[in-house]
Amino acid sequence: MSEPSPLEKEIRRLIAVGGPMPIARYMSLCLTHPQHGYYMTRDPFGVGGDFTTAPEVSQIFGELLGLWTLSVWRMLGEPDAIKLIELGPGRGTMMRDALRAAKVLPKFREALSVHMVEISPTLQQVQRATLADTDVPISWHRYLLDVPEGPSIILGNEYLDALPVHQVVKQPDGWHERVIGLKSNGEFALGLAPDPLPQFDRFMPKKIKEAPLGAIFEWRNDIDAFDIARRVRENGAALFIDYGHVESDIGETLQSVNEHAFSDPLSAPGLADITAHVDFFIFGQAAESMGAAVQGPITQAKFLRELGIDARADALRRNATPEQAATINDAVARLTESSRTGMGDLFKVIAICDPKLGPLPGFPS
Ligand code: SAH
Repeated sequence: MSEPSPLEKEIRRLIAVGGPMPIARYMSLCLTHPQHGYYMTRDPFGVGGDFTTAPEVSQIFGELLGLWTLSVWRMLGEPDAIKLIELGPGRGTMMRDALRAAKVLPKFREALSVHMVEISPTLQQVQRATLADTDVPISWHRYLLDVPEGPSIILGNEYLDALPVHQVVKQPDGWHERVIGLKSNGEFALGLAPDPLPQFDRFMPKKIKEAPLGAIFEWRNDIDAFDIARRVRENGAALFIDYGHVESDIGETLQSVNEHAFSDPLSAPGLADITAHVDFFIFGQAAESMGAAVQGPITQAKFLRELGIDARADALRRNATPEQAATINDAVARLTESSRTGMGDLFKVIAICDPKLGPLPGFPS
């Protein structure tokens, strides 16, 4: 057995004193423990890091989202003050590209204030450096609830997948929370909470209610969808891009990624990224229950095509060297193709907004 990571020692201690912990608590510690959490101490993005996200693939991604934001501001009736909020902004690349594209309209630029919601002090520093030359007011917050009220447009790319996920397992007497305990030698052992969660599947789709014994179901706390919906249900809109499923389904998607390869989520806590697919159905349902409207989800490919990714790529290619043109072609393929390496079909786009708004840009009417 290799030497346990500092966080592994800490989690063993927490389990030894507090008993087995739900997967969601484990995931939350792995990603955001103040000293040892994966995002708290490092910049994991890019070729030299653990994974690459759409804004890091091409500037076109952020630019198109910037133009999306501008159009939505118009649909909201051009309020004189609009908050552009990004949840989990990583390196800040998407915001930099979005602002460059959207600021072309002076009236919008004057109305705009930017709010970065980022839990990691390390990544906040990276974002400050990325956005150092920006001339619109920007502030940083640890939580969405800390952002002042007012008309808001929220963006989040690969944010929801990083929020802690619970796993429950179907047993004859109901669904039991999956927990992590300790073997006698101190290693982690997966187990089940002794009692079922009362009436867990009461409001779940049929597919979950009728799942076979032993089935695993993953769910996230609705609180994030509630907070987002509460903010945008009047004079606002939110857009999330992530991998996941359009309908709730059973199955385990919790995964750990390190140096661009999958690893066991229970090994090396704090040293690898841990994510799980987004259940867009449940997310949308929670937002609707708070009085917001839902548009989509649609595939990333459809969304980016609708927003004009091909025309933007053509424009960039016109001033490009042959090598640059090849890079642009590769990036567009990566963002829109449905092949194994493509993000086009795996990634979905969902909007949560004020019900009085018509179809938002990119979404079918
Ligand atoms: N949007 C970026 C980064 C995605 S990774 C991109 O597409 O490149 C997830 C981001 O969410 C990181 O910036 C991480 O630090 C942040 N994050 C994770 N959990 C968070 C939480 N609970 N609150 C706020 N930010 C969080």
